[in-house]
Amino acid sequence: MNDSFVVIDFSKMRGVDVNIMDNSVWVEAGATLGELYYRVQEKSKTLTVAAGMYTSLGAGGHITGGGYGSMMRKYGLAADNAIDARIINSNGEILDRASMGRIFFGLHHRPTLRPPHRKTDILELLQSKSRFCERSDTGNWVGRDVENNVGSRKQPVYDLEPLWRKDEQIPRAIDPFPHRNVLFKIQYVATWMDDEKENMNKHVDGINKLYKYMIPYVSMCPRQAYVNYRDFDLGMNNKNGSYEEGSSWGRMYFMDNFKRLVEIKTRFDADNFFRHEQSIPILSA
Ligand SMILES: Cc1cc2nc3c(=O)[nH]c(=O)nc-3n(C[C@H](O)[C@H](O)[C@H](O)COP(=O)(O)OP(=O)(O)OC[C@H]3O[C@@H](n4cnc5c(N)ncnc54)[C@H](O)[C@@H]3O)c2cc1C
Repeated sequence: MNDSFVVIDFSKMRGVDVNIMDNSVWVEAGATLGELYYRVQEKSKTLTVAAGMYTSLGAGGHITGGGYGSMMRKYGLAADNAIDARIINSNGEILDRASMGRIFFGLHHRPTLRPPHRKTDILELLQSKSRFCERSDTGNWVGRDVENNVGSRKQPVYDLEPLWRKDEQIPRAIDPFPHRNVLFKIQYVATWMDDEKENMNKHVDGINKLYKYMIPYVSMCPRQAYVNYRDFDLGMNNKNGSYEEGSSWGRMYFMDNFKRLVEIKTRFDADNFFRHEQSIPILSA
């Protein structure tokens, strides 16, 4: 990466504008999912947003990367329910779906509101409403169950999570989310509480062994990866980032969509102003 850069801080952009009349909500990129669920529940006890299970997640990164949650089997991912986005380009122009087409990297997102499919979904949401009102030691809004779960895991483990709607029928060629052909996503988890280097190496080594061990059982050519679980071991942009470099991890995250994303990025951010370790490269780099 280049030495000079700016970090864009979304933490003050947390507005949530719920519109019950047309079943939609505008959410600013810095709002957490907990704030989003809370604001929707203030207006309606029967509608919610299909998105992730952890209330501390930021709406911006979560929705743009996919966003699975407890209602995904019926309503799909958070990104599937996004009907509009307002984005700002490096010239300061604000674009939306009407001016850009169906591209959802934005400052504000507008997901559709959905009725939870079981009574327990409403219960879960009410619980998350009270949970997200607790502040953790780090000052983040966080559910207590997250801290308890993560803190108690001693060994590398993996969770298997089914990913898609039962009746998913989005044609592959226009689908922004490329992993619908797999039945499960695996989440590899290793946590430790002390900062001893020796222990850290042991845990990282353990998770690397588990990841390698799984090779025969998972997707291959390429091995797929969920972009919302960023993994720098898959590769990183060097300096300005090239197409070849970006392909190593970009094909795993985005599959056949990678090429299309590079074309869109080249068209709308030709100077590669918005970049990070695994951002989409531009063609001329
Ligand atoms: C405890 C925990 C639980 C999780 N549970 C789930 C889950 O249930 N379901 C699920 O799908 N995922 C889950 N995730 C993964 C989560 O979706 C990702 O970490 C996601 O990237 C969080 O988004 P963020 O905005 O908080 O993160 P950030 O790190 O702020 O952003 C992630 C990426 O998106 C980019 N980005 C953020 N906002 C914008 C924007 N407005 N425009 C353009 N780019 C933007 C950032 O540059 C960055 O590259 C979980 C993660 C954690 C840590």
